[in-house]
Amino acid sequence: MGKIRLLPDALASQVAAGEVVERPASVVKELVENSLDAGAGSIEVRAQRGGIALIRVLDDGCGMNRDDALMCVERHATSKIRSKEDLAAIATLGFRGEALPSIASVSKFRLATREPGALHGTEILINGGKMTSVADCGEPPGTQIEVRSLFFNIPARRKFLRSENTEFSHLEQVVRVQAIAHPGVRVALVHNERVVFQLPATADPRERIRGLAGADLAGRLLQIPPLTRDGVTVSGFIGPPGMSRSDRRHQLSFLNGRPVEAAMLTYALREGYHTALMKGQYPVTFLFLETDPRAVDVNVHPAKREVRFHDGNAVRDAVIAAVSATLSGEMRRPVTGVGWDVEKKAAPSPSAAVSGEQPDLIPQAEQHALRRDWSDFSPSPAPANIPASDSTGLSPPPNPVESDAQPSPVEPDPGTVAPKAEDFRLLGVLGKLYVLLEGREGLVLMDQHAAHERVLFEEMRRRMETGGVPSQALLVPLTIELSPRDFDLASRNLETLAKLGLSAEPFGGNTLKVDALPTFLKSDDPETFFGAVLDELRGASDRMSKMRLGEDMVATTVCRHAVKANDPLHPAELEKLLRDLLVCEMPYCCPHGRPTLIQIGYAELERKFGRRV
Ligand code: ADP
Ligand code: MG
Repeated sequence: MGKIRLLPDALASQVAAGEVVERPASVVKELVENSLDAGAGSIEVRAQRGGIALIRVLDDGCGMNRDDALMCVERHATSKIRSKEDLAAIATLGFRGEALPSIASVSKFRLATREPGALHGTEILINGGKMTSVADCGEPPGTQIEVRSLFFNIPARRKFLRSENTEFSHLEQVVRVQAIAHPGVRVALVHNERVVFQLPATADPRERIRGLAGADLAGRLLQIPPLTRDGVTVSGFIGPPGMSRSDRRHQLSFLNGRPVEAAMLTYALREGYHTALMKGQYPVTFLFLETDPRAVDVNVHPAKREVRFHDGNAVRDAVIAAVSATLSGEMRRPVTGVGWDVEKKAAPSPSAAVSGEQPDLIPQAEQHALRRDWSDFSPSPAPANIPASDSTGLSPPPNPVESDAQPSPVEPDPGTVAPKAEDFRLLGVLGKLYVLLEGREGLVLMDQHAAHERVLFEEMRRRMETGGVPSQALLVPLTIELSPRDFDLASRNLETLAKLGLSAEPFGGNTLKVDALPTFLKSDDPETFFGAVLDELRGASDRMSKMRLGEDMVATTVCRHAVKANDPLHPAELEKLLRDLLVCEMPYCCPHGRPTLIQIGYAELERKFGRRV
């Protein structure tokens, strides 16, 4: 007798469960997807002890008759596809027919379902993959699935579960993400008998985001004007320049209603933000993509997280165009909209996520945990008497009282006029770095270094586009001996360097002769400048365009030559700087995505001084 056997069904399901069911959150994901596919108008998720003890998902969808109820827990049983053609054009969230049998094989499983109009429903009990009971039941129309004691029969898997809090925060994230993808469905989440959130159905996605992420964040999101291009429609909401996070948890993308991840989308968002995003940070996005289901392969990953676009370039270009159009619309808005919101490596706080007291996609504590570490970009550290901005006491309070007190721009409004230098009165300079201005809405602080960087950057970019940055010939050409790799890099990019005002040519071996430098570089240290340019070249990826590469080099190098902290400027110079800044395309952040202007509005001052509660 041969050694090869077919696995018994229950065992095969457990093996499949290894791919589909990783933790309570993955069970919830599959069950909620099923409810959505069943056309539910309301979905309620209940969990006990992080979902390890119990998960119950209740919907008011189409339900199943007894035959289907028996069938749905069989492996590879699905109502969603029938043929190869169907697989190529999937319009439902599920299609693999694997979730229910997999889940039932690793838990104590109860299914109760009833079609609307049926006299009674069906209840099925399965214990670790073995069906123990099938009976009539009197549940309301719809489907209810209970999953108890996950992995009770696979101790090795159970051991890998994390703490209840951690498991719950994953589970909660799954429900939030699905809730955002489907605002038209009422969604409730209850943990340990406590309501975490309860979101009424709405036609307005922003309303749904508000219910989850709070009015403050939702109010500041910019709406992407829907854009259709090459069969891809892009819509949604994105954070304004200056709103960013240290991880990707708030960078959500949906394709035809399915939450998706794709490296290409991350790349496209980054490109779309370009200099409006700080290096190493991720934007806050709620991106909705619609395509013909035939244009995408969702059958790439057992948990259906990843997708593969047939024409990835078209999707990428559409996303870049939509994001940059949205941001450039925003750029001409008055300074009142400036609310800087950068999360710096704040540890995720599961307790905040679990408490549920603040229905908030991004726990408030993290939202305001921001504030930059000045020393990491200012070449000369800020004087000790300038406290870091989170200890100034001027940063927003951890719990903004009400959003009416906050300047909260809603949609980009083309009618608003851009702020002009005349709208501000110069008050003075704080700590040789922060220029204090009186604006219409309150106090405005300008970081003179960051502002100058932005002004220089845009000027250089304009010149690069129109024939190049003026350069100045060196009296004595500079010869620089490079490593073979750097030499190769530099030689391949001589044209880009020339646009930057840096003229160089090979000079035998790995030596480069530099005979002209950009005029803005008051040539005090050409070698360091060249070093910075090389660093940028090294870091650049091959697919980066020449223009973009040039821009990045400009961004890095202007930083070193912009007005520094501690460089005293005359009032007239400060005024010119402000004037130049305000005519920039993107005045509110430096080329590295850091803020140039911060506003502390009257409303906030009033709160601080107790004039208003
Ligand atoms: P898939 O979703 O890939 O088809 P599942 O194992 O998740 O596979 O579900 C099997 C089938 O059970 C589905 O195709 C659907 O017909 C039925 N089903 C599952 N959940 C529900 C539900 N909540 N309401 C109605 N039918 C459901
Ligand atoms: Mg399914």
